Amino acid sequence: MTAPSLRERSRVVDAGSYRVLVGAGLRHEFARHIAEAAPAHRYAVITDSHVRPLYAETLLAALAPLGATSLHVVAAGESHKTRDEWARLTDEMLDAGCGRDTTVVALGGGVVGDLAGFVAATFMRGVQVVQCPTSLLAMIDASIGGKTGVDTVAGKNLVGAFHPPAVVLADVETLRTLPEGHRRAGLAEALKHGVVADAGYFERLAADLPALVAGELAATLECVTRSVEIKSEVVTSDTHERGRRKILNFGHTLGHAVEQVSGYALLHGEAVAIGMVLEARLAERMGVAERGTAETVERVVSRVGLPTRAPASLGNAEILRATKLDKKARAGVVEYALPTRIGAMASSDRGWAIGVGDALVMAVLEARA
Ligand code: NAD
Repeated sequence: MTAPSLRERSRVVDAGSYRVLVGAGLRHEFARHIAEAAPAHRYAVITDSHVRPLYAETLLAALAPLGATSLHVVAAGESHKTRDEWARLTDEMLDAGCGRDTTVVALGGGVVGDLAGFVAATFMRGVQVVQCPTSLLAMIDASIGGKTGVDTVAGKNLVGAFHPPAVVLADVETLRTLPEGHRRAGLAEALKHGVVADAGYFERLAADLPALVAGELAATLECVTRSVEIKSEVVTSDTHERGRRKILNFGHTLGHAVEQVSGYALLHGEAVAIGMVLEARLAERMGVAERGTAETVERVVSRVGLPTRAPASLGNAEILRATKLDKKARAGVVEYALPTRIGAMASSDRGWAIGVGDALVMAVLEARA
């Protein structure tokens, strides 16, 4: 018997109200899946300037027999995930004749997913969105869970809405064109899924790192599928982040702070990598995590080629101050999602996040050198 082709090995993950399809070469069937899950008279494809020449024209051509189409392009980069771009896109869609019978198709990385998702959440008080993530981070994280939004001057993702997609379509072949640095950064979130929920997955990721960094299809298909399963399972158990979903914030409290203080010079995944190492150390110092947890996280993070400590130019006091602006701060006390070991997270009487005093956080930051 011949081994199944990668296409035959495509996967379907049930994410509650919608499905996530993961496959190699799936983009050739995007149009059919979009029309099945979110049939409409018009399909408004939103993409960015990097992804457009790679994948948008083919998708538009495939959608054309199924309905009217329009293409809306955002300049690539986080700095364009703004209310201004939201306004420009919605105006463009109105000019193009989009109405309530429109499906928005988000084709791109997490920036496009968040922005297009927010457009869909608000256009005509809400139209359907299909997420077609093309970056590793977007496949395993941003496209799952229904969070959409834009950045403001005061911080990232501060204006947004929950708006689950009709379906998520992830073609791992598209990751071949993703710059390697972004593949590495995306792996930080995959490692996080291992730490918060599945020690066996963490070990498999560690073993497959060279293949994953190179974007090899079979390993990537497994990684995306398992991460999507974990994120979907956690999110469907707590759609509005009142409880267990908080475990997904592991590495993100200090990660966001480092990212912000760096002036967003670090990629999100790079900042999360640093945040995971620091927060695992915090968990050990507090006696929450088994000894050796932080060292294991640090070793694997560094093998991915991601940073394990904040750049020396960033001040500890500034990083600490930035944690207070985080959405996770409650009454001035910053809360952390902390592991007890690889594969399991701590819960307390107050839920899945634990308030930690400044002195302890500072001690961990100061020990980073
Ligand atoms: P991104 O969208 O900026 O994509 C990274 C870069 O890769 C961009 O330059 C993009 O043009 C390019 N790119 C994307 N796919 C490509 C491909 N296949 N080939 C070549 N180039 C490609 O950033 P990202 O890392 O994908 O996502 C980060 C964003 O996701 C942030 O805004 C973050 O806030 C958001 N996010 C959202 C959630 C959520 O739950 N909604 C979760 C995590 C992150």
